[in-house]
Amino acid sequence: MKDRFGTRRHRASIVAGSLCLLLAGCGSGNTSLEGLNATLWTQQSAEYRASAEQAYRTASRMLDLGLADPAWTAVPEQEGDPGDLRPAVILDVDETVLDNSAYQARLIVEGREYPDGWDAWVREATALPVPGALGFARHAAERGVTVFYVTNRDATLEEATERNLERAGFPLAEGLDVLLMRGERESWGSDKSSRRAYVAGTHRILILVGDDLNDFIPVSRASIEERDRLEAEYASHWGVRWVMLSNPAYGSWERALYGFESGLSPEQRRERKRENLRTSEGGPQQ
Ligand SMILES: [Mg+2]
Repeated sequence: MKDRFGTRRHRASIVAGSLCLLLAGCGSGNTSLEGLNATLWTQQSAEYRASAEQAYRTASRMLDLGLADPAWTAVPEQEGDPGDLRPAVILDVDETVLDNSAYQARLIVEGREYPDGWDAWVREATALPVPGALGFARHAAERGVTVFYVTNRDATLEEATERNLERAGFPLAEGLDVLLMRGERESWGSDKSSRRAYVAGTHRILILVGDDLNDFIPVSRASIEERDRLEAEYASHWGVRWVMLSNPAYGSWERALYGFESGLSPEQRRERKRENLRTSEGGPQQ
């Protein structure tokens, strides 16, 4: 029987691929190995499953509270009195409702880096649900709450993404575009604010769920310090109107470590990471 992440043979190939990278340095370098612990934690640890399930259980409880309170809204983009609007929730897709760790595992095994093979992986439409996500999305739909998916997957991947969500069992409201892709409209860039505002025009948004600070507030080029400040500024939202999933594999936090510099070599990226390690309470190691 196939388990959650494929056959035993597939697991064996992960180990073999990793050894290949460790021992022989084959592939395009071993930077993809930096994702090894993160990917294994997501795929094999009960701790990851428990943390995702507890996040979504919190989201379900808060959804019920928000539904009962006509003044409740999760977004600053919501203008005026939202009480008469239909209720909705906004979920990010990658690592929030769909688990792409099998793609991450392929990168490690094959010694490649994102975005190699990303579009092909998305078109396979075989990503499995993040633990707890299906239960929450169905809980919302059963209560008449429209589930919107706001993702920075490219608009060209909308059909494949819809196919994957459908196959995984996620509710997709009929007669309404609930899958809002990056670039689907001219004003829909990677900053998700314009898409939140679009949904807020017709719906009262009860809960946001994501795995990146950008799923809640625009922090596209915010420094690590600024991100920390914003996280604290919205402390009252976490676990109430905003629910964060753990994603140790990638995210805007990582680009912030590089100071958003592009074109860094794998060695330079690793060096930046090492520079950001805190070896005492005093801050980054010097
Ligand atoms: Mg995501």
